[in-house]
Amino acid sequence: MTERFAESEEITKKIGEILIDSPPATLAKGDYIADGVDSELDELRKIARGGKAWIAAMQASEREKTGIPSLKVGYNKVFGYYLEVTKTHQSKVPETYIRKQTLVNAERFITPELKEYEEKILTAEERILEVEQRLFDELRFWILGRAGDIQQNAELLNELDLSCTVAEVAKLKNYVRPSVSDTTVIELTDSRHPVVETLLAPGEKFVANDLSVSTDTNQIHLVTGPNMAGKSTYLRQVGLTVIMAQIGSFVPARAATIGLVDRLFTRVGASDNLAGGESTFMVEMTEAANILNNATGRSLVLFDEIGRGTATFDGLSLAWAITEYLHNSEGAHARTIFATHYHELTELSDQLERVVNFNVAVKETGEKIVFLRKIQPGPCDKSYGIHVAQMAGLPASVISRASDILEQLVRHEPLTEQPTPKRSTDQIDLFAERESRLREAIAAMEPDQMTPMEALTKLAQLKRDHEL
Ligand code: ADP
Ligand code: MG
Repeated sequence: MTERFAESEEITKKIGEILIDSPPATLAKGDYIADGVDSELDELRKIARGGKAWIAAMQASEREKTGIPSLKVGYNKVFGYYLEVTKTHQSKVPETYIRKQTLVNAERFITPELKEYEEKILTAEERILEVEQRLFDELRFWILGRAGDIQQNAELLNELDLSCTVAEVAKLKNYVRPSVSDTTVIELTDSRHPVVETLLAPGEKFVANDLSVSTDTNQIHLVTGPNMAGKSTYLRQVGLTVIMAQIGSFVPARAATIGLVDRLFTRVGASDNLAGGESTFMVEMTEAANILNNATGRSLVLFDEIGRGTATFDGLSLAWAITEYLHNSEGAHARTIFATHYHELTELSDQLERVVNFNVAVKETGEKIVFLRKIQPGPCDKSYGIHVAQMAGLPASVISRASDILEQLVRHEPLTEQPTPKRSTDQIDLFAERESRLREAIAAMEPDQMTPMEALTKLAQLKRDHEL
């Protein structure tokens, strides 16, 4: 690779010669061109920098010439530089001095020599900026003539940087070399999400998952599971793994075979384009249309939920028909992973040969569910939406009412009205009773008479007895 780098020493050398070692961030104040580059600039700088020294020297020589020990050179905005002589020494002022201003105790004068020098200093500063800018522009044009070499080197560095980074990450994160083949399968063993696995809270472990999809046998995977189960993560990790493999990177898995993907289509998230006049659902459908119209038998399609933006039956019907289309179409039979909360859709696997069901395992313990993050064969039996809502902290009465409604819906019963006057008294009574028992138990305690250990034991007992 090194021999592909263009010789650039001439450029660095030139820049090193023309610019100072640590130039300022902006050009506005000058002081970036090195000394010795341009004789006019050097001369101007000598004047500008030497201003103070020149004035000190002039003051000393004028004192000597006139014999006025208190003579001094000063500066103000109105008159510029002047010579100041106290009233006591007025008689010694030479004729060549031109009077400019009279003060209580002193007179101020100028001389042609002083004015000439003043002019020089003030214009020097201005001129320096001009000269530096001109030299800088010249340098830029000179470099522009060598832009091809610089671009070539930048591209090579880019390539090197990418290869090194990809290699480093592969080593650090234990990636595997994928086998990219001319088939229409994707086989992943212990696949992980490259980003999520590094961002998990300490103590949490990323659960690796497998994937085996083939256009010929199990083309469409329907992945069901409650919200937060890990569906989106799984879909995205498959997409990222394919992209990584195809750019030449190792991938986060224990083994990976990737049948070359011609295009990766995704329908994820709900990014509104309201400003452009499209609602979420319209965006969703536009994306779906693009996928169905352009996918081929070599594509990979990742559908992360579809039809959420409309009524349940619309959404379900569309998701159903889209799945059928991907399955039955001659041209668009792409490998597809479809994450959906419509568990009704899982029935499709009975009708369509190459549709298979997967779900993300969850464990139900009492009223709670634990996410196991494991993709397993088979459909998800229910959507657990109410469980998730409960975990998110919706009021208990809302959760219990939703459970009642769900049960009626599932049994196709007409929905009963909420028993308002009683305000789901069963639940409330239960809570109220528990609470008053707890209150009594606390009231009976005598903290003053207890040792800390007894207090702790009592607290633990209260929690146990009252199921808190
Ligand atoms: P879903 O799409 O099913 O609602 P997500 O894919 O958004 O769920 O996952 C929810 C959260 O669960 C993620 O933000 C991540 O923190 C965690 N998670 C997902 N998959 C895994 C996994 N395989 N191992 C560990 N944690 C995971
Ligand atoms: Mg999701």
